[in-house]
Amino acid sequence: MAAMHASAYETAGQKSKTKLDRSWMSQARRWFQIGFLALFCAMPFVGVIQFDIPHWRVVLFGQQIWLNDILFIYLVWGMMVPLLVGVYMLLGRVFCGWMCPQTTFTEVIDKFLIWANGSNKLFHSVARRRVVIFIYSVTVAWLFAFVVISYFVTPEVLWFHTKTFWAWLWGLNGPKDRHVMNYEVYQAVRDSLRFQWVLWIALTIDLSWARHRWCRMFCPYGIWQSIFRNRHALRVRFDEEHSSACIDCGLCERQCFMGVDPRKQPELTFNCINCGDCIVTCDRVFKKRSDPGLLSFVVGEKVEGKTRLPKVVYLPPLVFLGVGVLFVYSMMNYQPVFASINRVTESELANQGHVQESVYSSFAIEVVNKGRSDDDFALSTLGIPQPAVHFSQDRVHLVAGERTRIYLDIDPDKVNLPQTNVQFAVRVQSENDPGIYALDRASFFKEGVLEGQGVGVSPQRHQPQLEDAPQDEEDP
Ligand code: SF4
Ligand code: SF4
Repeated sequence: MAAMHASAYETAGQKSKTKLDRSWMSQARRWFQIGFLALFCAMPFVGVIQFDIPHWRVVLFGQQIWLNDILFIYLVWGMMVPLLVGVYMLLGRVFCGWMCPQTTFTEVIDKFLIWANGSNKLFHSVARRRVVIFIYSVTVAWLFAFVVISYFVTPEVLWFHTKTFWAWLWGLNGPKDRHVMNYEVYQAVRDSLRFQWVLWIALTIDLSWARHRWCRMFCPYGIWQSIFRNRHALRVRFDEEHSSACIDCGLCERQCFMGVDPRKQPELTFNCINCGDCIVTCDRVFKKRSDPGLLSFVVGEKVEGKTRLPKVVYLPPLVFLGVGVLFVYSMMNYQPVFASINRVTESELANQGHVQESVYSSFAIEVVNKGRSDDDFALSTLGIPQPAVHFSQDRVHLVAGERTRIYLDIDPDKVNLPQTNVQFAVRVQSENDPGIYALDRASFFKEGVLEGQGVGVSPQRHQPQLEDAPQDEEDP
């Protein structure tokens, strides 16, 4: 009788461990999954992030990062890579278990199947279950594909996209106001609809058939995370010391939808996603015996009773912080206008009807409004006498994200300067905020000297710096 009340550990002739209730882990994981899914769905709609591929820009917290702003792209990657690598090294595939929407959607189906296998007679028929799973998969796949698309198109495109899709679904010819779309919007709507179709079909197949098979065998992000996971990362540990207390019920292994037996060194398997379900399951088995389960999470390794992490895991956060400071500094000094000057090509010269009609004295200036709002810009030159300068337009209004090309002709006869190689700069400055400006520099050769001496004509360009401009005019 006494033996019946003894704990499993004591039955196994070992000292009982302290009672531990870790069922909160299941609740916490659910909230993480719901929270991440809600965040993922909300981010593009509340303006946190938007990838505007047609205009080559990313809008991040209201700031635009242009994909041709190489420095910013490097800085963003410089922050993201160490942050993610640090997480993989320390926590393994924890993203898969606690946040990935694929796992979340699939676990809903797992729950349904458990419920259908129980006392509910309505779904004992396999065909009925399949119908329910298929309807669920089609619906969730469409909604998720729609959310993914909203990361890549503007709200205007998304609006037309939605109307066009539903019009198609109900057999109509498209929204009545379709003519309102300009060609660029029309192209974006067409591409986003195609993309949604592909994603919709792929996700439907994934949820209705592949489910956890995808996570176990194909997911490239899962493989990528596993590459960085090392033996010190967060992992499930089987209590070898009390292994004889294991009643070999096999529930932990059956609970694992990733097909891992947590008693057999799950830290060595690629598949463990640190969801913790096996730990909670084993706790439930032992709860009846007032003992904690035999499985637990561990990280690092115990050295003289203290948990030690390998030194290498401290490196990614340090790199992240260092690059993060540079990123914030760059964002604070960001100029939302871009200007670049180049000599015109022969064909441009023929098409544009330039005053000078010479590639040596005609330039093309690329101006981009990288700001989030429309702006008026004035163009001027530094380092060259004003009577010699002729812009195709010296003022320009650009809507947010718009770029334009303006031509500059220089009359060599009016350049009364002693030098033959004249360095000058073009300044593009906002008329609404003088602090917003861009400079670019080029060289102008007087034509006769050029031909006589065979001097090269390639313009010298570099990133615009105010102090680099010739100083014969007052800087802004
Ligand atoms: S072994 Fe445990 S923690 Fe790892 S995936 Fe399976 S159930 Fe989750
Ligand atoms: S759930 Fe616990 S007791 Fe059951 S087999 Fe797994 S480790 Fe052993």
